[in-house]
Amino acid sequence: MFRRWFKRQLEGDRTRELLIAPSLPEIAVDEVRQFIVEDDGVPHINWAVAAAWIDVHAEDPAMYPVFQRAIAAKWLDEIHDMVAYETMRWRSALVEGLAPTRDSAASRLEVWSLRALHDITTSLDPIHDGALPGPVIIFATRSSDAYYSFIAHFYDEGVHGGSGGIYLGAEHNAFPMLVIDGSVTWGIEAVVVHELTHHALAGCRLPLWAEEGLTQMMEERIAGGRPFLMNSEIMDRHRALWSDIGFGPFTSGIAFGSAERDQQELAYHLALAMTRSLLERRASDFFAFARACRDNTHEDAAREHLGRPAAEIAAALLDL
Ligand SMILES: [Zn+2]
Repeated sequence: MFRRWFKRQLEGDRTRELLIAPSLPEIAVDEVRQFIVEDDGVPHINWAVAAAWIDVHAEDPAMYPVFQRAIAAKWLDEIHDMVAYETMRWRSALVEGLAPTRDSAASRLEVWSLRALHDITTSLDPIHDGALPGPVIIFATRSSDAYYSFIAHFYDEGVHGGSGGIYLGAEHNAFPMLVIDGSVTWGIEAVVVHELTHHALAGCRLPLWAEEGLTQMMEERIAGGRPFLMNSEIMDRHRALWSDIGFGPFTSGIAFGSAERDQQELAYHLALAMTRSLLERRASDFFAFARACRDNTHEDAAREHLGRPAAEIAAALLDL
């Protein structure tokens, strides 16, 4: 039903590209079980062991990602069969999904992931030259407890966490995965959009301020939510913080994970303010900067395409 709705809403090649799931090589479930490790009762894939197995079994190295996806799919099938509550497994061109059916979480995630990937990839075409990101797992837990037990396995590995969801990238040969707290029914769409934007930007090597600026803009654009606000009170808080600590923690990305003062909140807010302002006034320069970050330092890319380093752009924006 949702697929029909999706097809009606969005027409064109990109929609077809996102809907058609590839066929995967058949891998016996016993083979996959040897890659599964339990941590606190939760089954995870040991991707390093899986990678060694794929090296032996995939004759053509180009088939590596397909085998990896087949293992990820089988692992989700196993969880689907194992859990005591009702879940839905789904597959589209870029998504291997598993979510509880309660409160329509699974069907909402299926349709929202398609819609979000459509809009995100279309908006980011100037950065990617039209190429689609690779496939990703979307796994929603049934409760907040299950969500935190699951993601505890990955802490300290460079993860990007949003409220209610987290994106785990392809580090250490892992298949990328978006984990969602499926009990958070309000705002789940914004979580999907935010974390899928991180996935779409993986490998672009953007500075965190630009990446978090784009993830928040996509949330606003696709999932709606609170309008962006920059009033005199927030402006005063920004000036007080950044004139005290400098923009180093902002441009390096440290402030985004900081528990000190209101650094994290203001870093996300400033990232959104800066990215919005650059995209509104100088979209082609911003996209040129984003493309240049792949092969240049952030500083050089900013100087060349934005005319000055990020710290100076931030200072000008806040009139500091
Ligand atoms: Zn984020």
